[in-house]
Amino acid sequence: MTARTYSIVIPIYNEHETIPTLFERVRAVIDGFDGAAEVILVDDGSADDSWRMLIDLHARDPRFKALSLSRNFGHQVAVTAGLDHARGDAVMVLDGDLQDPPEVLPALIQRWKEGYDVVYAVRTKRKENFVKRAAYALFYRILKQLSDLDIPLDSGDFCLMDRKVLTAMKLLPERNRFVRGIRTWVGYRQTGCVYERDRRFAGDSKYTLAKLMGLAYDGIFSVSTLPLRVAVYLGFSLSGLAVMGACWVVYEKIFRGIALVGWPSTMTVMTLLGGFILSTLGVIGEYVSRIYQEVKQRPLYLLKGKMGYEDTSVP
Ligand code: UDP
Ligand code: MG
Repeated sequence: MTARTYSIVIPIYNEHETIPTLFERVRAVIDGFDGAAEVILVDDGSADDSWRMLIDLHARDPRFKALSLSRNFGHQVAVTAGLDHARGDAVMVLDGDLQDPPEVLPALIQRWKEGYDVVYAVRTKRKENFVKRAAYALFYRILKQLSDLDIPLDSGDFCLMDRKVLTAMKLLPERNRFVRGIRTWVGYRQTGCVYERDRRFAGDSKYTLAKLMGLAYDGIFSVSTLPLRVAVYLGFSLSGLAVMGACWVVYEKIFRGIALVGWPSTMTVMTLLGGFILSTLGVIGEYVSRIYQEVKQRPLYLLKGKMGYEDTSVP
């Protein structure tokens, strides 16, 4: 059997405090691998000196390669850029803030050798504040309800994928990269591997509330069309109610001689309907904007630098 090769993709956004420790810990882990390894660090347009530090890492250990995106494209796109450049038979993704301990990787590799194509890490505990934990728990449960896909609860992007999964993922042309949704969609033999998620090593989460909401939206609207169906059901139910209401008004008038008056009820119904109509338009808008993004066919990201690749010219 030929030697196995491994790739590790790590997105980096303003992580200069973490990079030295990340380097030491990842290096210790890949030294223990039974085959050649490459580490692809993707600088997602950091504003600090992360990129300079990554160049330095490559000089110290050529197994560490680096890509620099032309600006901040976001976590999911950074991961995708790394995956596009990964050459290993098994490709792993982990966060650059050491929340996903690199020491877990050998366990993922073990499951891969047992014949699984995707081994996703499932966290037992989140060492984060209550509000954030509650928000995540809610999101994953909504996602599970909404999508036809069974995206495993409490699994993030931390995972190992076989080369054939990566090849399959590249067949999906969509611009809207919700990596764990795509990973689940491709199928093959998937399994989870439990680990304890650490606190961020240093600095604050690089996900602002807006970015997190964006990710949640992408998650929901990219895996499910259920929101559209809900809008239709809502419309039908309301029409049903309206017909019943109309019958009642006519009945009261004809048989009991009462003409209904009522400003408050009219206002209530009007605002309710207005709300429904606007939110439904919003839902449609979400899909239209996604269609718009797709038809523009823009590249997903642009590179401004490469370190550790023979061809350093940037496309
Ligand atoms: N990240 C990135 N681009 C961004 C935001 C984050 O590449 O726009 C990276 C970040 O450096 C980290 C990983 O994605 O390695 C996860 O981000 P973070 O820890 O901020 O997210 P959280 O763990 O809070 O969900
Ligand atoms: Mg983190």
